[in-house]
Amino acid sequence: MKKRIVLLCMFLFGAASFGFGNDKIFSEYFRDATFRYDFYHVGTKGEERIVPDKMYEEGEWAGSLTNLVDTLNLGEYLFKVVDIKTNQVIYSRGYSCMFNEWQTTDEAASGAYRSFQESVRFPYPLHKVQLTISRRDKRMIFHEIFSCEVDPASIEIHHEKLFSGAKVISIVNNGDSHEKVDLVILGDGYTNDEMKKFDADAKHFTDDLFSTSPFKEREKDFNVRAVEVASQESGIDQPDRHHWVNNALGTSYNTFGSARYVLTNENRVVRNFASAAPYDFMIILVNTNRYGGGGIYQLYAISYTIGETPSTAWEADYVCVHEFGHCFAGLGDEYYSSSVAYNDFYPKGVEPWEPNLSANPSREGLKWRDMVASTTPLPTPWEKAKYDSIEDERAHLNPRAKDYSKHRQALLDEERKILEAQPNKNVVGAFEGAGYSSTGLYRPSVDCRMFSLSLTGFDPVCKRAIENMIDFYSK
Ligand SMILES: [Zn+2]
Repeated sequence: MKKRIVLLCMFLFGAASFGFGNDKIFSEYFRDATFRYDFYHVGTKGEERIVPDKMYEEGEWAGSLTNLVDTLNLGEYLFKVVDIKTNQVIYSRGYSCMFNEWQTTDEAASGAYRSFQESVRFPYPLHKVQLTISRRDKRMIFHEIFSCEVDPASIEIHHEKLFSGAKVISIVNNGDSHEKVDLVILGDGYTNDEMKKFDADAKHFTDDLFSTSPFKEREKDFNVRAVEVASQESGIDQPDRHHWVNNALGTSYNTFGSARYVLTNENRVVRNFASAAPYDFMIILVNTNRYGGGGIYQLYAISYTIGETPSTAWEADYVCVHEFGHCFAGLGDEYYSSSVAYNDFYPKGVEPWEPNLSANPSREGLKWRDMVASTTPLPTPWEKAKYDSIEDERAHLNPRAKDYSKHRQALLDEERKILEAQPNKNVVGAFEGAGYSSTGLYRPSVDCRMFSLSLTGFDPVCKRAIENMIDFYSK
């Protein structure tokens, strides 16, 4: 069985081992520009279609010239670019999207159909290529759901500039984009008059990211640019408060019915603005003081920017880096008690693809078993019942009540005390409770930026996943 899995991995990601080791190969198949293929992702629970939209040429290629074929095996989907003449996979990337999250909502379960506009981006091919998109099944094996031929000479490809003169500010510049992780920061809900605030926010959250390990130690491997996007009105939509704003990027609270979940389904608009700068990953800062954000692997990370009160300003710093963990390294949520809009996001008994979640806590099967000491018990004990009782209390606080913030902070402090007191707090093991599930899913450490609402750093397993991604994009 193991052998079959290895063979399958070689088949899926195999081209990497066939010598895409130098930029000569890049220049044989690509030129230094970005090709964007837009499509609609349409369907309901258990059914999906990819329907082509438009094709674009964006600016210079920001990605690696050597790491073209994905070797990381992350994401719900995988797209591949195959050179038609040689039948070689010349580029591939795993990714996730809004559609697969929406499929786990009650709305999708009721049989309703919805469409989401999406993009895949790859270096601009010189010759005709076949673009395929695959989706994982419950055993995590990819199956093709879409295939089409792309002719790079087609007159249907748009070559105009897409970003209407948006100003780009360089925040961190460490040189050649091909050898760096290139981040682009966009702002939503900032009016022309608030652009100085956006510039300051972009710098603040860049500092926030690079004060957190392992980004801190690897800042030299990044470039960060901010694109000034002006909204007609200040703030973003808050449907549950009947607060509607004409904001440029369409970000909104209440995504999939969750109060604090901020995403945008205006992919085309977002991508057009982002194309003002070369980028591998995107952060969208929203000009609001209401707790919220969202992050999807290889799509974007979104964070609010102003604390609800001065004493909770740090929570925006927590959210921004947490969401970037989803977007950048495919990290899963390690928390399990907060209400989310999903049904069976991680079906029982299925090993998630996220590097920091596991359904198998055994010494032979645990995903990060190479990081677990032989003396560490698996599953690893912690005072879960005690922690859960505080979480439960916090979940039942009334946000409209007087002294809400005070009570909430007191409970957060109490949770912190419990986590800090665990004898296994510095141990990598398998701690039960992760991925929106109180039982059956395990996380690597007692605490992590992907677990508690705190400025705690990433646990060693998440750190390694982030470092792998930095390596992949900077070499
Ligand atoms: Zn999260």
